[in-house]
Amino acid sequence: MLKAVLAGAWFAAISAWERLSPSAARPLGSDFKRWTRNGGLWLANSALSPLITLPIAAWAAQADMWTRPNAANGWIGLGADLLILDLWAYVWHRLNHAWPLLWRFHQVHHRDEFLDATSAVRFHPGEVLISAVARAPIIILTDISFISVLAFETLVLLAAVFHHSNARLPPRIETALCIFVVTPSHHWVHHHAQRADTDSNYGTVLTMWDRLFGSLSATRRSPDMTIGVEGQRDAPLLALAALPFRAGSDQPARNTRAAT
Ligand SMILES: [Zn+2]
Repeated sequence: MLKAVLAGAWFAAISAWERLSPSAARPLGSDFKRWTRNGGLWLANSALSPLITLPIAAWAAQADMWTRPNAANGWIGLGADLLILDLWAYVWHRLNHAWPLLWRFHQVHHRDEFLDATSAVRFHPGEVLISAVARAPIIILTDISFISVLAFETLVLLAAVFHHSNARLPPRIETALCIFVVTPSHHWVHHHAQRADTDSNYGTVLTMWDRLFGSLSATRRSPDMTIGVEGQRDAPLLALAALPFRAGSDQPARNTRAAT
C-alpha cells in the first residue's frame, strides 16, 4: 500500500518534471500509442506482482537453508540485502541480453522508441514471471528477508521511473549523481538503438556494477539519439504480447558487438 502511494506520487512528480523540463524532443502524436502499449503491459504486470512475484519471494524468504550473520539485523542487514538484490538485478539484466530465450521477452521493453516515466513499467509479463522464479534461489541462498524484498521492489520502481524519464537534470548534478546511481543519461544509452550500447549500462540502482564488471558504455547521451532495438520497430500491444513466441524473435540478441 505504501509502495503504491509512494510510487504514484513519484510517478506524477517525475512525469510533470519531464514535461516541464524535457531533455529530448517528444515525438509528436506518440502519446496515445505509448499509453496503450506501456499502460497495457503495466496493467498485466501489476496483477502479477501480488499474485506471483511477492508470493514466490515470501516463500523463498522463509525457506532459509542457513542463517547469514547480520541477515535482517537492523539497517546493516537491510543495506546488505539491498546490495545483494541490486547485484543480482545487474547479473540478471545482463543475462537477459546475452541469452536468446530471455531476450525474446526482454526486447519488448527495449522496442519502445522513446523513453519516459511510462517505460519503467513496460515489461512483458513473461519476463516478470521468469525473473521472479530465477530470483528465488538467490533469496534462499543469501538468506534475504521478505521485508528487504519489499523495500527493494519499491526502490527499483522509484529508480526505474527516474532513470527512464526524459527529465533534464543540470549536467553537473547529473554527472555527480551518476557516480553512485543510475541517471536518465546513463540509462538512455542502454536504450540507444545500437547493439553495442544496448549491451552496456545494465545497472538498476547503482552504477558501480557496470564499472566493476566492465560493461560501462563510453557513449554520451545526445538529445537526438535513436531509441529502440537496432533494426527493429515497436509494435501494437497484442503484437508485443505475442512477440516472444514468434519464430526468429531471438535474432537481434545474436547481433552483438561485432555488428557495430
Ligand atoms: Zn535491457
